[in-house]
Amino acid sequence: MSEKLVIIGSGPAGLTAAIYAARANLEPFLFEGFIKGGLPGGQLMTTTEVENFPGFEKGLMGPDLIMQMRAQAVRFGARMIAEDVETVDISKHPFILKNATRTVEAHAIIIATGASANILEAPGVKKFWGKGISACATCDGALPLFRGKALAVAGGGDSAIEEATFLARFASKVTIIHRRDALRASHIMQERARKHPKIELLLDSVIEEIVGGQLMTGLRLRNVKTGKKTDREFGGLFMGIGHTPNTAFLNGSLALDEKGYIKVSHPSTATSVEGIFAAGDVTDPHYRQAISAAGSGCIAALDAERYLDTLGID
Ligand code: NAP
Repeated sequence: MSEKLVIIGSGPAGLTAAIYAARANLEPFLFEGFIKGGLPGGQLMTTTEVENFPGFEKGLMGPDLIMQMRAQAVRFGARMIAEDVETVDISKHPFILKNATRTVEAHAIIIATGASANILEAPGVKKFWGKGISACATCDGALPLFRGKALAVAGGGDSAIEEATFLARFASKVTIIHRRDALRASHIMQERARKHPKIELLLDSVIEEIVGGQLMTGLRLRNVKTGKKTDREFGGLFMGIGHTPNTAFLNGSLALDEKGYIKVSHPSTATSVEGIFAAGDVTDPHYRQAISAAGSGCIAALDAERYLDTLGID
């Protein structure tokens, strides 16, 4: 039997699409993702306090927000499975989605697979991965390995500052290492970092190597303006250097932009293939907020509903 609508991804975009589609009686089937797209629930599962999602005056924890969205979608009849989709065959309609254990046919698809954290390429990254290097401060920052130590965060965007602010709760000091002389982060986040007594900004600097023994013990840094190299001791390095959209599984079947984000016909969520819609961070290198992802998930569900209507499926 074919599903009317399959949603891939369970961050704010996928779950909002599921809530809307379920309320429209489309009985959406949702691949929540597991390994390749990260944990089910997307990036909010590794975020702490979310203060800017409307409706929550006092803020709430990222995982709590996702769990509430998930429960809301299930309440209206969305079905979910914690698996990735490995291939999508768009050569026929209904489309065919597969992974190692199942094959699902879908009349319409919403792709909301989000984006994953980028990893710095430098000597020592592989060697010290999990031995001082991490891509997720909120997952690992409170571990005994990092407590009371001087830590480094690579990057100059909002993520880097968010990670540094979180790490400063446990670390003796946190140094944000950024390759340019100006941070990319929003004004409010920059202010937060500059005023924080435990956060240091090291600008115009690149990480040339991660050094250590059994565990990482420091970084070899180079100032990009003077060329001067310095060795500094750090007990940990966290990645805050942006994200890559999770579109590899599409294997070129949809039109992507030069960075790999799915192209959609704004303001609709239609992709280059009729019947396939995309929402959230997998389409969005610019805004990438939980609320903008949720908004586009809502639009995707409405677009899919209208498309299914044209096929006489309701
Ligand atoms: P981003 O804004 O793309 O910033 C990535 C940072 O990493 C940039 O400073 C970039 O340097 C640096 N970088 C990239 N590749 C690098 C490399 N190979 N080596 C060294 N540095 C490298 O990504 P983001 O911080 O993840 O933020 C993404 C979006 O999410 C933004 O729109 C942001 O506002 C939003 N966000 C918001 C919040 C919040 O409001 N609480 C929190 C997190 C994220 P350059 O500046 O030189 O390019």
